Amino acid sequence: MVHRPLSLQQALELKRALGARGVPVAGGTDLIVGIRKGRPAPAEMIDLSLVPDLDGIERVGDQLRVGARVSHARLEVMDLGALAAACETVGGPQIRNLGTIGGQLGTASPAGDVSVALVALDATVELASVDGRRTLPLCDFFVGPGRTVLRPDELVLAVTVPLNRRSAFYKIGKREAVAISLLMAAVSVDAHGHVAIGIGCAAPVPMRARDAEASLRTHGWSAESIDAAAALVSAEVRPISDHRGSADYRRAMAGAVVRRLLTQLWREGAPAASRIGADGARGTA
Ligand SMILES: Cc1cc2nc3c(=O)[nH]c(=O)nc-3n(C[C@H](O)[C@H](O)[C@H](O)COP(=O)(O)OP(=O)(O)OC[C@H]3O[C@@H](n4cnc5c(N)ncnc54)[C@H](O)[C@@H]3O)c2cc1C
Repeated sequence: MVHRPLSLQQALELKRALGARGVPVAGGTDLIVGIRKGRPAPAEMIDLSLVPDLDGIERVGDQLRVGARVSHARLEVMDLGALAAACETVGGPQIRNLGTIGGQLGTASPAGDVSVALVALDATVELASVDGRRTLPLCDFFVGPGRTVLRPDELVLAVTVPLNRRSAFYKIGKREAVAISLLMAAVSVDAHGHVAIGIGCAAPVPMRARDAEASLRTHGWSAESIDAAAALVSAEVRPISDHRGSADYRRAMAGAVVRRLLTQLWREGAPAASRIGADGARGTA
């Protein structure tokens, strides 16, 4: 059965009544495609497409609050550095028109391009149930492939990202479009030089490279410290080998991609964003 709530309150009441059996559907690009590939269809689906409160993009001071139902297509055209660049690399235009931020987080894929950009931007995620709302750092939201801390009666409401950072994103994929990433990374830096590094396809969840971040904090920015940070990234990632690439290749590329992004942000004084590259092929913005 498909439920079509017309308000957030109705959606949350349904989620409370149905619990884990009530599966939210936003763009359906993960869920419906999965069902078509043979995954069992949920008995109860909660279609979020008519819930108005989830589709806003709102500036709050120096932060941007993005509703869960906002599509990648809406964000890719905004001046949002790594976030826009990551959205631009998701699938093809049809997927980006349908696919949403909430769906990306709900899928909790270690290969989620937008999740990696959000993690590198120190995003927070807002969750809601009929009992109220809670906010947590996005990197604490993911628990493993397809697993999050979302409770059975909760929905993702929004993510919030700081706007006062320069950031860049880089993705290695087999093809330019409609290809799952082999490895991707995003880096953001604030006015004080505080760096956050996010990496995808390198661990069970979109991860932060904490050792590399700490090293840059200690040693500052130079060609040598960037090399050292890149080496730490290769040491701290935990990739697997699969049909897209070996763990060794991913480990080497994680360091190389982060070195490239850090160098780019270090050299440029202006907001930066780069897209698919290397063997995959889109150039640098
Ligand atoms: C051909 C193709 C190419 C793709 N290419 C890429 C790519 O390059 N990069 C990439 O990162 N992804 C890619 N994807 C995956 C997908 O498009 C994204 O993950 C997208 O963001 C999913 O959003 P959605 O709204 O369609 O999610 P849905 O399919 O509607 O939902 C996905 C999951 O999230 C849950 N969910 C949805 N909304 C909420 C909410 N508000 N609260 C709680 N749970 C929620 C659902 O229950 C479900 O478990 C691709 C998919 C396809 C089919």
